Amino acid sequence: MFESAVGDRSAPTLSQLADAGTYRRAVTTFPSLTPVCLTSIATGAHPNVHHIPHLVWWNRQERRIVEYGSSFGAIRAAGTRRSIRDTIVGMNRDHLSKDAETIYEAAERTGLTAAAVNITCYRGPHRYLPTVPGIAPATFGPRRFFFYNLYESDPIGAPLAVRDRAHGSVDEYAAAAGRWLVTRDGFDLLVYYLSDIDFASHLHGPDGVREQLVKTDGSVRALVDAAGGLDEFLERYAVLVCSDHGQTHVDRAVRLQDHVRSSDTVTASNRAGMIYTDAPRVAAASLDPVEGVDATFFLEDGAVVARRRGDEDAALLDEYPLGRERVTAALQNPNAGEVLVSAADGWEFADLAGLHHAGGGSHGSLTTGDSEVPILGVGIDPPARTIDVKDAMLSTLRPPVT
Ligand SMILES: [Zn+2]
Repeated sequence: MFESAVGDRSAPTLSQLADAGTYRRAVTTFPSLTPVCLTSIATGAHPNVHHIPHLVWWNRQERRIVEYGSSFGAIRAAGTRRSIRDTIVGMNRDHLSKDAETIYEAAERTGLTAAAVNITCYRGPHRYLPTVPGIAPATFGPRRFFFYNLYESDPIGAPLAVRDRAHGSVDEYAAAAGRWLVTRDGFDLLVYYLSDIDFASHLHGPDGVREQLVKTDGSVRALVDAAGGLDEFLERYAVLVCSDHGQTHVDRAVRLQDHVRSSDTVTASNRAGMIYTDAPRVAAASLDPVEGVDATFFLEDGAVVARRRGDEDAALLDEYPLGRERVTAALQNPNAGEVLVSAADGWEFADLAGLHHAGGGSHGSLTTGDSEVPILGVGIDPPARTIDVKDAMLSTLRPPVT
């Protein structure tokens, strides 16, 4: 959709940026789900380093399910205090590995000012209280920090972000924050996350988001206009535009829980599943006949076993973009299940509530459609993996951050 909308210039700002820069496709991490992918972008690492395993996972220390929800809006709709806490604070404060360094921490340790707008991975050195007292605990973000009206480093007077998700007010909030930041040139490094395109793609499918992409283009335009035009914008900033994951059509869903032993714990949603089990091979084998399962992966004596319909062959990993690297890193995450499950084309795994996006779009698997992302650099060489975005951006700062 990005390539098509830039090709026929229906996304005018992205088209102008493409004229000025270099474009390629890049590969994201696995599972190709938002909390995992955004954390990989922000930390420059796969989940073996940052420890965020999935949208939903089993916390072995606390012996409970952690559920981040498929979007902030979904969490609001679900309304559980614990999920809100896990998503907006726990992910950054408790679940994100202390050994990972965020792009904001890296920039600010050298005295630069980092900014984050709406991105779920935001850990930084500054403490923030919520804008509405008592609604959430204190959290730590970069010097400039705007998170769905919940935390704001500076009073920008933007309207509430989450009240009307379907009409795009989340990105409108982001644009208000972005406009404020660019108008003041209030940062050395800005990470600006526009999530409405993912929301629309789940609903309408990846081919049904042209209208939303034009709106998303407008949210990029807001930054350009705040600088006084494209030339002024590009004179001031190097720019990297990318997605955190792809999306593919889904028309069927399966509950993995129905196919494994009841003593196993399944966490699944979108197009990736995990099984927490003391018998990985047994659990993987029990999914051999399940049509919606493309492949299963587990570790045996430290080596990755890749299994499809009863056949075990490591060469299977090479069928996917960076398959070997991504599966190994996902399995080496201490918070991941013992078995990882990647969905077959057109299939989704129902979540704990039995919900899915059949008839729309989804992502999470190892397949190319879920894993490949557009990446466009202006003044930055676009890297081939999203885990290299962090270093690519830091190297453009003056002086460069290493
Ligand atoms: Zn999504």
